[in-house]
Amino acid sequence: MLGLHPLADGRCAAAVGLPFGALAAKTFAELVAAAARRGASSLQPWERHSALAIGLDLASARAFQREAAELGLVVREHDPRWRVSTCSGRPGCGSAWLATRPLAAEIARSGAADRSGVRRIHLAGCAKRCAAPRAADVQLVADAHGVEVELADGTRAHWPVAELVSRLLRAAEVAS
Ligand code: SF4
Repeated sequence: MLGLHPLADGRCAAAVGLPFGALAAKTFAELVAAAARRGASSLQPWERHSALAIGLDLASARAFQREAAELGLVVREHDPRWRVSTCSGRPGCGSAWLATRPLAAEIARSGAADRSGVRRIHLAGCAKRCAAPRAADVQLVADAHGVEVELADGTRAHWPVAELVSRLLRAAEVAS
């Protein structure tokens, strides 16, 4: 879970999330530098594509969170980006039908997950569905012709990529 976690020795750990599971190398280096500057004893991978800075006093942990947010990381569970996950997609994966991360960011900005009350939307660049979380109750799977959509109520549809976000929002309105 994102946020601050008390440790047995009185210090705390701060968990911050990588938006859509990745960070630019430069941003990652800046995050490491922020953790070191604030006195963290380590920065380690943690659950759900997050990073955990350990061994901070409370003021330093909050300062680390602020710096992480300025770097574009997710620091709150209710951030819409934390409701949308995706695989690598293009250009990182040769099997991908589309660039999943920019589309995932657009879906998050739309607020479709919040409006429909779904826990998580997962976008996959092809039928292999890499990185799909069990908790995802809307699955979007790209293919040569668009996106296969599996909604939370079991409804299946096939939508063009260009209409994906607007149709998700319409589905969210129906669900709300
Ligand atoms: S789901 Fe498909 S496109 Fe996405 S990373 Fe896996 S193989 Fe690549």
